[in-house]
Amino acid sequence: MIRVKWFGHSAFEVEIQNKKFLVDPWLRNPKSPLTTLDGLNPDYILVTHGHGDHLGDTLELLEKYPRAKAVAIFELANYIAKEIGDTSRVIDANIGGPIDLGEGFYAVLTTATHSSPYGNPTGVVFGKDDDIVYHAGDTGLTYDMKLIGELYKPKIALLPIGGHYTMGPREAAKAASLIGPKYVIPMHYGTFPVIKGSPEEFKNALREYAPEVKVVLLTPGEEVTLE
Ligand SMILES: [Zn+2]
Repeated sequence: MIRVKWFGHSAFEVEIQNKKFLVDPWLRNPKSPLTTLDGLNPDYILVTHGHGDHLGDTLELLEKYPRAKAVAIFELANYIAKEIGDTSRVIDANIGGPIDLGEGFYAVLTTATHSSPYGNPTGVVFGKDDDIVYHAGDTGLTYDMKLIGELYKPKIALLPIGGHYTMGPREAAKAASLIGPKYVIPMHYGTFPVIKGSPEEFKNALREYAPEVKVVLLTPGEEVTLE
């Protein structure tokens, strides 16, 4: 059972077996209902790449929640550690290496075809047992997604559909067919006019490319629990 809450853009809170993950926590984006960072208390903050709309409130969250640790690619993790002045609060890693988070939880940074000011851009697979989530970060469509599906069998895929900087609806639907998750939740659309791929277009494209995958549409601030 996985609880997923979307804050708009690529920002999610995901709870798996009582562990709380924040992913790409730009929590006060233009579509988000949040005005403060109160009451979040994450165990882990997963940051896919160094663009401001993904790094978001990471530094402030680390200062506010002393138990939280950030997971990111080496160069981005170093940047975060330097900014907060504490290397013990970050877990630096690299693409493809399983990161042991203890108690059976793990994360793996994945390929993302994009750019980043700090190291390579990534996506991230994380969770425990069968409760695995794949957050694709910002990326174009790539066959690497097929491997992610085959190896980690994510139950939920969080995919950008906005176009322009990332996959649009058609590319994301093809991605869903390569990954083969049970559920797909679209993200990274509608925040700005230029990322205009819509959930309706995505649903239509899914009907063609991956009709077996269930699409779950959330509005910013909404959460869902999926089995
Ligand atoms: Zn980006």
